[in-house]
Amino acid sequence: MTQYLPGDKSTAICWNCEMLVATTFVRCDIPLSDMSCTVRGVVAAVCDTCGKVVAVPAQSGGQITQAISGPNPVKSAEEVLTAGKQ
Ligand SMILES: [Zn+2]
Repeated sequence: MTQYLPGDKSTAICWNCEMLVATTFVRCDIPLSDMSCTVRGVVAAVCDTCGKVVAVPAQSGGQITQAISGPNPVKSAEEVLTAGKQ
């Protein structure tokens, strides 16, 4: 699995620009679509043109799943990583 780091570059289809755009990976807080909680410290691809989050790499999927299923819905990336090692 490719591990993306903040500052890495890629391309993706931006739903806002409606075209293929250059993206930059950044560490950010992502509110879930139903607004039930916010996943903190997720590495996500942001559109270089409009600044919207356009993609969340697979590496962040587990982090989001843990945030949804965990007893405390709001977790930082560091808390999730620590919990995963135990
Ligand atoms: Zn865009």
